[in-house]
Order: sequence, then C-alpha cells, then structure tokens
Amino acid sequence: MRATRIVDLSRPVGAGTQVFPGDREPRLEVAATTAVEGFNSTEVHLTSHTGTHADAPYHFLDEGPRLEELPLELFFGRAVVVDATGKPDRSPVTRADLEPWEAEFGPGMIVLLHTGWSAYYRTERYFDHPYLDGAAARWLVELGVRTLGVDTLSPDETPYGRHPGGGWDAHHAFLGAGGTIVENLCALDEVDFPDPVFSAFPIRLSAGDGAPVRAVAMRTAD
Ligand SMILES: [Zn+2]
Repeated sequence: MRATRIVDLSRPVGAGTQVFPGDREPRLEVAATTAVEGFNSTEVHLTSHTGTHADAPYHFLDEGPRLEELPLELFFGRAVVVDATGKPDRSPVTRADLEPWEAEFGPGMIVLLHTGWSAYYRTERYFDHPYLDGAAARWLVELGVRTLGVDTLSPDETPYGRHPGGGWDAHHAFLGAGGTIVENLCALDEVDFPDPVFSAFPIRLSAGDGAPVRAVAMRTAD
C-alpha cells in the first residue's frame, strides 16, 4: 500500500490554539538555542486535550482503560466521512442524519463527523458547534464503531457562556465501550476521494486520559 495523497486534518499547536472553555492555553518557550547550547529546543506546556487530540476512556471513567491500554488499531484504518454540514448552532446530529451511511458503519470503521464547524475555529462561534445526539452515538457503538472523529471541540455540546452544555452522552457511549474520540479535526472537506484511510496515533503520554495526535486522511493505491 502506498499513499498517493495525504490530507492533514490537524491543528497547529502553539500560540493561538483554541482550547476547550476553561482549559489552559499551550505555551512554547525557548529552552535552548544554537547560539548558547549549539542546538534549538523548546519547552512545551500543554494539557493532554490541546489541539487535535484523542480521548481515552480514562478521560471520563476512572476505571476505564488508559491511553496506553488502548489497541493501536483504534487509531488507524478505513474511514467514512459523514456529511453533517448545514446544521444550525448547537443543534443535534441525529441517527436520521447518519442513516444514509449505515451500510458503511461496522467494526473497524472509523467515522469522521464533518459538521463544517472548523470554519469557525478561533472564533467564539467555534464553541456553538452541532453535537452528536446521544442515541445516535450509542447506535454507532452498537453497530461496532469504536473510533469517532469530529471537526469540533467535542462530540457533545460544549458548555460556554449562557449555555450549560448538554451532558456527555457521546463521550460516554464511545469511551464506555473502550473506544476513542479524536477532536478538533480540520480540513475534512478536502477528503474528496473514496475509501480514505485515517491515521491519528497519539503520542505515548503516560497521563492516560488522552494525548495530541497528528491526524491525516490518506488516499491509497496498491
Ligand atoms: Zn478531549
């Protein structure tokens, strides 16, 4: 297998990375320079859920598997991009919205939810993204899906301002089944070829609840 095209689905991590309300912003500091030490190096401060990242079950479940305990197969494989664009702010993506792709959903399939909300990245409207309805999330899990990618901060409604949020149903559905959720994807509109292969391996951070990824979609040939 070779990749004939690779679409970068990841956000840069650094000054200006938009974080979940209340989360700490990343900070990069010069740790060494060629002038002094003979090489450039950077000290990196960030939480485990900064930028494009994967959640492990332990993020929401104290007894759930930690990142290190998840099979790496969750982070690589055939993907289907579900078109959920055109939804109003803070509206649910329902099972009915997903049903046109039902034949593709099954064990090993990675579902990428394209809401189009990455267009609002680095604005307040980014927090007002559509969210995956809990029943729809549980339906995907019932069909065997264990990896969900979203072009929003969260598959669940994000609490912000006068909006209290709507709970964590989609997180609990996927993480409760030993799956993972990859958040803050971008450029899903550029995945315009059939049968994309998704790859988003997290760095091997010992924290256990999640870690940044480099998410890509690949067009492949034999
Ligand atoms: Zn997260």
